[in-house]
Amino acid sequence: MFQKIVKSLAYILVSLLATTAGAKQYPTKAITLIVPFASTGPSDTTARILAQFMSFSLKQKIVIENISGTGGTIGAARAAQSAPDGYTLFVHHIGHATAPAFYPELSYDPIKDFEPIGLINDGAQTFVSRADFPAKDFEEFVAYIKANKGKVSMANAGTGSASHLCGLLFQEAIQTEVATVQFSGTGPAMRDLLSGRIDVMCDQTTNTTPHIKSGKIKAYAVTTPKRIGILPDVPTADEAGLPNFEISVWHALYAPKGTPKPIIDQLTKALQAALQNNILKLRYADLGAEAVSQDRATPEALRAHLQSEIDRWGPIIRKAGVYAN
Ligand code: ASP
Repeated sequence: MFQKIVKSLAYILVSLLATTAGAKQYPTKAITLIVPFASTGPSDTTARILAQFMSFSLKQKIVIENISGTGGTIGAARAAQSAPDGYTLFVHHIGHATAPAFYPELSYDPIKDFEPIGLINDGAQTFVSRADFPAKDFEEFVAYIKANKGKVSMANAGTGSASHLCGLLFQEAIQTEVATVQFSGTGPAMRDLLSGRIDVMCDQTTNTTPHIKSGKIKAYAVTTPKRIGILPDVPTADEAGLPNFEISVWHALYAPKGTPKPIIDQLTKALQAALQNNILKLRYADLGAEAVSQDRATPEALRAHLQSEIDRWGPIIRKAGVYAN
């Protein structure tokens, strides 16, 4: 009898210890996910969809914090300075790789100040205009911009944003300047395009597709080497007359440098589980973005991709001679 009681007590004690230890396991509270652009834009949409699916496996809320400004670098700097405890994460796109070339005095290092977790998705950008812009195809789009040199307003999300990069390469390719208007993200820029206050923009399909489909804006070309499934009638920029014009906008997930490896491993697993979910895949695909394969949703793949994109874009941007400071 006595032995039985001791055994039961021991069992209760072990269970209690296990529960306490379990309760201490990451994550025990909501996680903040920094998005370096305004809400309703493509980075915000990518992050909100991901957060919803990652929170299933992490069993915790993931709260989006939009810290916008200067092409994503304010949010990135804040993420770099955050506590490396797994409770602050960061989503950024191709701009994380182009920032060092645009900002020679950047306060953070995109590689050294972050722990890569994995790539999220890839997508095209689209050249779009307000609905009543006087061009019916890409040829007329370019002709109108050339004929109205410096007068056509083109929105972007600040120096170093993907829309800025696209606009910059576009102006270089057609050898004509536009009137650039900067926003805290292309979500707010889209509102001005829809209301006709802005003429044109080059932005991710994640933002433009619903409005192209409903006829509220016009699409002229996509920036990927191949046409995309949801916009089959929209030619590639290369087909439409800008040879080799190619930008693919990829998003990725990071943590501040020094975040413990077991936490990074757990986040990588949660990222991979989210990206394997068919509903998430469909939600991205509906917006023209493709969830990456499992082998790309890893710290190693992201580290290698980020470095190769820094190496690829640095010389192109430096040659264009556009510096933010
Ligand atoms: N699409 C934007 C860019 O041009 C950013 C955003 O609002 O997501 O980089």
